[in-house]
Amino acid sequence: MAVYTTDAGTRIVEFLKNNAGKRLTASDIFNGVNASGHEADMSTVYRYIDKLYNDGRLLKYKEANSKAYSYQYNETYGSCREHTHAQCSECGKIFHMQNEVLADAAKKMQEQYGINIDYRRTVIPGICNECKEKKKRGIR
Ligand SMILES: [Zn+2]
Ligand SMILES: [Zn+2]
Repeated sequence: MAVYTTDAGTRIVEFLKNNAGKRLTASDIFNGVNASGHEADMSTVYRYIDKLYNDGRLLKYKEANSKAYSYQYNETYGSCREHTHAQCSECGKIFHMQNEVLADAAKKMQEQYGINIDYRRTVIPGICNECKEKKKRGIR
């Protein structure tokens, strides 16, 4: 784990921790950090995004209809570089999945197709229980 020494870096990490599990773009992070009166320029924000991404603390992915990358901070589920993710296509919620869930599939992909999953950006689309429940009840 890298050490975050600069002030701006500390604020960025704090902001991300306070918003863990939320979908954020780089400009959300920039605005969020600076809204509380601290100063972090965009290049600092990107530098820390890269750092945290490399540490597996940030999941980086693209929403279907967005040009900008989305990020989600995670320190509860282990490294986002080493497990697979699923996302609800209705509400956008991200699920950090245990590796054994896809272990067989990962093995077969390697054996049959010679491809290793790049876990860092895996986001498998699906629909979560909550949204299924809502649909059943006809709530929109
Ligand atoms: Zn993850
Ligand atoms: Zn959902």
